[in-house]
Amino acid sequence: MNNDAAERRDEDCVFCKIVAGEIPSERVHEDDQVVAFKDLSPQAPVHVLVVPRQHRADVRELAHQPEQLAHVVAVAGSLAQKLADGDFRLVFNTGANAGQTVFHVHAHVLASGELAEGEL
Ligand code: AMP
Ligand code: ZN
Repeated sequence: MNNDAAERRDEDCVFCKIVAGEIPSERVHEDDQVVAFKDLSPQAPVHVLVVPRQHRADVRELAHQPEQLAHVVAVAGSLAQKLADGDFRLVFNTGANAGQTVFHVHAHVLASGELAEGEL
């Protein structure tokens, strides 16, 4: 892994590959700090992931960059406004025992109706 703070990337990380455009995704937003795309297995009518471009394992690590964390929340809010009625759930699964399967921090943005059965 390259630990340069400006260009953090893990060569084996699926979300680093999505950020780099090496794996396709249905992007709904991108800027210099984050990429947002539709979740492959949606658990709500609107289910997008907001992913910081820099590789960090989870939201505990992202909290060391509070401006980036705040930006993730702001993008979640604007996407909920754009794609749904503005209200949303924001979920950061953190650690394998809490259901985290991709260890590149991502915010699940869930909106527009009842959540599907199953865990997030
Ligand atoms: P988590 O379980 O919180 O780590 O969430 C990982 C999420 O990433 C799951 O909801 C998956 O459906 C989603 N996911 C995994 N691979 C992809 C992909 N290539 N494109 C879009 N979503 C993905
Ligand atoms: Zn990554």
